[in-house]
Amino acid sequence: MCGRVFYEGQGVTLDIAGRRLTFHSKSCAIKFVRLFFEHGDYDCLRSSLNKVLKIIEERNKRLQELRTKKI
Ligand SMILES: [Zn+2]
Repeated sequence: MCGRVFYEGQGVTLDIAGRRLTFHSKSCAIKFVRLFFEHGDYDCLRSSLNKVLKIIEERNKRLQELRTKKI
């Protein structure tokens, strides 16, 4: 992303659509993700985003239930 050289095992790896992308740091990965969303197909992104938000919501709900059970 920034053209800096780094060794395998270092940095951040993202698997997207069957391709493995490696970044030397989290900030480079975030830069890429931003660019990806800016140029991605709006309808595709929106349906993907809704799915992801639902997953996160359900996970948070489960975590909250676990917490209240423990108390
Ligand atoms: Zn970089």
